[in-house]
Amino acid sequence: MASTDSQDSDSTIERILDNNREWVAEVTAQHPDFFTNLAKGQSPNLLWIGCSDSRMAVDVLTNTQPGEVFIHRNIANRIPSEDVNVNSVINYAVKHLKVGHVVVAGHTGCGGIKAALSNDSAGLLDHWLQPIKDLYVVNKREIEALPEAERVDRLSELNVIRGVRTVAKLPVVHEAWNEGRDLQIHGWMLQLHTGLLKDLNITISGEGQIDDIYVVK
Ligand SMILES: [Zn+2]
Repeated sequence: MASTDSQDSDSTIERILDNNREWVAEVTAQHPDFFTNLAKGQSPNLLWIGCSDSRMAVDVLTNTQPGEVFIHRNIANRIPSEDVNVNSVINYAVKHLKVGHVVVAGHTGCGGIKAALSNDSAGLLDHWLQPIKDLYVVNKREIEALPEAERVDRLSELNVIRGVRTVAKLPVVHEAWNEGRDLQIHGWMLQLHTGLLKDLNITISGEGQIDDIYVVK
Protein backbone atom coordinates (compact mmCIF):
# COMPACT_ATOMS: atom_id res chain seq x y z
CA MET A 1 0.00 0.00 0.00
CA ALA A 2 1.33 3.41 -0.94
CA SER A 3 2.32 5.69 1.88
CA THR A 4 0.71 9.09 2.34
CA ASP A 5 3.91 10.71 1.11
CA SER A 6 3.95 8.83 -2.17
CA GLN A 7 0.22 9.48 -2.67
CA ASP A 8 0.90 13.20 -2.26
CA SER A 9 3.78 12.92 -4.65
CA ASP A 10 1.65 11.04 -7.21
CA SER A 11 -1.07 13.70 -7.05
CA THR A 12 1.54 16.43 -7.56
CA ILE A 13 2.80 14.71 -10.69
CA GLU A 14 -0.71 14.06 -12.01
CA ARG A 15 -1.70 17.65 -11.38
CA ILE A 16 1.34 19.02 -13.17
CA LEU A 17 0.85 16.78 -16.21
CA ASP A 18 -2.84 17.68 -16.27
CA ASN A 19 -1.95 21.36 -16.04
CA ASN A 20 0.39 20.95 -18.98
CA ARG A 21 -2.26 19.28 -21.15
CA GLU A 22 -4.82 21.96 -20.27
CA TRP A 23 -2.35 24.77 -20.98
CA VAL A 24 -1.37 23.28 -24.35
CA ALA A 25 -5.04 22.96 -25.29
CA GLU A 26 -5.72 26.59 -24.34
CA VAL A 27 -2.70 27.97 -26.19
CA THR A 28 -3.36 25.87 -29.27
CA ALA A 29 -7.00 26.98 -29.35
CA GLN A 30 -5.91 30.62 -29.38
CA HIS A 31 -2.77 30.26 -31.49
CA PRO A 32 -2.88 27.11 -33.64
CA ASP A 33 0.72 27.62 -34.90
CA PHE A 34 2.27 28.38 -31.49
CA PHE A 35 4.10 25.10 -30.97
CA THR A 36 4.93 24.61 -34.64
CA ASN A 37 6.72 27.97 -34.51
CA LEU A 38 8.29 27.23 -31.13
CA ALA A 39 9.83 24.02 -32.47
CA LYS A 40 11.62 25.91 -35.25
CA GLY A 41 14.20 27.40 -32.91
CA GLN A 42 14.93 30.02 -30.30
CA SER A 43 16.27 33.56 -30.47
CA PRO A 44 15.99 34.95 -26.91
CA ASN A 45 17.48 38.38 -26.31
CA LEU A 46 17.99 37.92 -22.58
CA LEU A 47 19.97 35.54 -20.41
CA TRP A 48 18.66 35.25 -16.86
CA ILE A 49 20.97 33.98 -14.13
CA GLY A 50 18.90 33.58 -10.99
CA CYS A 51 18.30 31.59 -7.85
CA SER A 52 16.72 28.13 -7.97
CA ASP A 53 14.11 29.24 -5.43
CA SER A 54 10.69 27.99 -6.59
CA ARG A 55 9.28 31.48 -6.17
CA MET A 56 11.57 32.89 -8.86
CA ALA A 57 9.28 31.79 -11.69
CA VAL A 58 10.96 33.80 -14.43
CA ASP A 59 8.36 33.46 -17.22
CA VAL A 60 5.48 34.27 -14.87
CA LEU A 61 7.20 37.19 -13.11
CA THR A 62 8.30 38.79 -16.37
CA ASN A 63 5.18 37.88 -18.35
CA THR A 64 7.35 36.46 -21.12
CA GLN A 65 6.63 33.60 -23.50
CA PRO A 66 8.59 30.41 -24.16
CA GLY A 67 11.56 31.33 -26.36
CA GLU A 68 12.09 34.81 -24.91
CA VAL A 69 14.44 34.16 -21.97
CA PHE A 70 17.45 31.82 -21.78
CA ILE A 71 17.83 30.70 -18.18
CA HIS A 72 20.43 29.44 -15.74
CA ARG A 73 19.49 28.99 -12.11
CA ASN A 74 21.35 27.67 -9.09
CA ILE A 75 21.14 28.08 -5.35
CA ALA A 76 21.85 31.72 -4.45
CA ASN A 77 22.52 32.67 -8.11
CA ARG A 78 26.26 32.16 -7.84
CA ILE A 79 28.53 32.74 -10.84
CA PRO A 80 31.84 31.03 -10.06
CA SER A 81 34.20 32.05 -12.88
CA GLU A 82 35.63 28.49 -12.91
CA ASP A 83 32.23 26.74 -13.01
CA VAL A 84 31.82 24.89 -16.30
CA ASN A 85 28.04 24.79 -16.04
CA VAL A 86 27.29 28.49 -15.68
CA ASN A 87 30.15 29.41 -18.03
CA SER A 88 28.79 27.13 -20.74
CA VAL A 89 25.39 28.79 -20.43
CA ILE A 90 26.87 32.30 -20.61
CA ASN A 91 29.12 31.31 -23.52
CA TYR A 92 26.25 29.83 -25.50
CA ALA A 93 23.94 32.75 -24.78
CA VAL A 94 26.46 35.46 -25.63
CA LYS A 95 28.39 33.82 -28.45
CA HIS A 96 25.73 31.81 -30.26
CA LEU A 97 22.33 33.20 -29.27
CA LYS A 98 23.85 36.70 -29.26
CA VAL A 99 21.67 37.98 -26.42
CA GLY A 100 21.69 41.72 -25.83
CA HIS A 101 21.16 41.48 -22.09
CA VAL A 102 22.35 39.37 -19.18
CA VAL A 103 20.38 39.73 -15.95
CA VAL A 104 21.84 38.51 -12.67
CA ALA A 105 18.89 38.22 -10.30
CA GLY A 106 18.82 37.63 -6.58
CA HIS A 107 15.78 37.80 -4.34
CA THR A 108 14.74 38.84 -0.87
CA GLY A 109 14.62 36.15 1.80
CA CYS A 110 17.04 33.88 -0.10
CA GLY A 111 17.48 30.59 1.78
CA GLY A 112 20.96 30.10 0.34
CA ILE A 113 22.11 33.48 1.60
CA LYS A 114 20.47 32.81 4.98
CA ALA A 115 22.34 29.50 5.20
CA ALA A 116 25.61 31.26 4.35
CA LEU A 117 24.97 33.71 7.20
CA SER A 118 24.44 30.86 9.64
CA ASN A 119 26.89 28.64 11.51
CA ASP A 120 24.75 25.55 10.91
CA SER A 121 26.03 22.96 8.47
CA ALA A 122 24.04 22.60 5.26
CA GLY A 123 25.96 19.52 4.11
CA LEU A 124 27.24 19.63 0.54
CA LEU A 125 25.78 23.11 0.24
CA ASP A 126 28.42 24.41 2.67
CA HIS A 127 31.02 24.15 -0.09
CA TRP A 128 28.80 25.94 -2.63
CA LEU A 129 28.00 28.73 -0.16
CA GLN A 130 31.50 29.35 1.17
CA PRO A 131 32.22 32.17 -1.33
CA ILE A 132 29.11 33.92 0.02
CA LYS A 133 30.54 33.67 3.51
CA ASP A 134 33.73 35.20 2.07
CA LEU A 135 31.66 38.03 0.61
CA TYR A 136 30.10 38.58 4.03
CA VAL A 137 33.54 38.74 5.67
CA VAL A 138 34.75 41.35 3.17
CA ASN A 139 31.62 43.46 3.82
CA LYS A 140 31.18 42.54 7.47
CA ARG A 141 31.27 46.09 8.82
CA GLU A 142 28.54 47.32 6.48
CA ILE A 143 26.33 44.27 6.99
CA GLU A 144 26.65 44.14 10.77
CA ALA A 145 25.73 47.84 10.97
CA LEU A 146 22.30 47.01 9.50
CA PRO A 147 19.29 45.83 11.50
CA GLU A 148 19.36 42.02 11.60
CA ALA A 149 16.26 41.78 9.38
CA GLU A 150 18.06 43.60 6.54
CA ARG A 151 21.34 41.69 6.56
CA VAL A 152 20.32 38.73 4.41
CA ASP A 153 18.88 40.96 1.68
CA ARG A 154 21.91 43.26 1.64
CA LEU A 155 24.23 40.27 1.29
CA SER A 156 21.99 39.07 -1.55
CA GLU A 157 22.44 42.44 -3.26
CA LEU A 158 26.20 42.30 -2.80
CA ASN A 159 26.14 38.81 -4.28
CA VAL A 160 24.27 40.14 -7.33
CA ILE A 161 26.75 43.03 -7.69
CA ARG A 162 29.64 40.56 -7.60
CA GLY A 163 27.84 38.36 -10.15
CA VAL A 164 27.40 41.26 -12.57
CA ARG A 165 31.10 42.11 -12.29
CA THR A 166 32.08 38.48 -12.78
CA VAL A 167 30.09 38.29 -16.02
CA ALA A 168 31.60 41.60 -17.18
CA LYS A 169 35.11 40.14 -16.76
CA LEU A 170 34.51 37.09 -18.95
CA PRO A 171 36.43 36.99 -22.26
CA VAL A 172 33.31 35.99 -24.19
CA VAL A 173 31.68 39.25 -23.11
CA HIS A 174 34.71 41.29 -24.22
CA GLU A 175 34.70 39.52 -27.56
CA ALA A 176 31.08 40.61 -28.03
CA TRP A 177 31.97 44.21 -27.14
CA ASN A 178 34.97 44.05 -29.50
CA GLU A 179 32.56 43.08 -32.27
CA GLY A 180 30.67 46.28 -31.54
CA ARG A 181 27.69 44.46 -30.10
CA ASP A 182 25.44 46.14 -27.57
CA LEU A 183 25.61 43.75 -24.61
CA GLN A 184 24.42 44.94 -21.21
CA ILE A 185 24.77 43.16 -17.88
CA HIS A 186 22.19 44.07 -15.26
CA GLY A 187 21.72 43.36 -11.56
CA TRP A 188 18.20 42.94 -10.23
CA MET A 189 16.56 41.89 -6.97
CA LEU A 190 13.17 40.21 -6.86
CA GLN A 191 11.17 41.65 -3.96
CA LEU A 192 9.14 38.62 -2.94
CA HIS A 193 6.74 40.60 -0.74
CA THR A 194 5.61 42.73 -3.73
CA GLY A 195 6.55 40.58 -6.73
CA LEU A 196 8.43 43.53 -8.21
CA LEU A 197 11.90 43.35 -9.76
CA LYS A 198 14.17 46.08 -8.42
CA ASP A 199 16.90 47.32 -10.76
CA LEU A 200 20.06 47.85 -8.68
CA ASN A 201 21.27 50.31 -11.35
CA ILE A 202 24.65 48.67 -11.71
CA THR A 203 24.39 47.93 -15.43
CA ILE A 204 27.70 47.34 -17.18
CA SER A 205 27.66 47.88 -20.93
CA GLY A 206 31.30 48.32 -21.91
CA GLU A 207 34.94 48.03 -21.06
CA GLY A 208 35.27 51.44 -19.44
CA GLN A 209 33.35 50.17 -16.43
CA ILE A 210 35.77 47.47 -15.31
CA ASP A 211 39.50 47.34 -14.67
CA ASP A 212 41.65 47.22 -17.81
CA ILE A 213 43.34 44.03 -16.64
CA TYR A 214 40.22 42.06 -17.60
CA VAL A 215 39.97 43.55 -21.09
CA VAL A 216 40.49 41.11 -23.97
CA LYS A 217 41.93 42.83 -27.04
ZN1 LIG B 1 17.42 32.07 -3.25
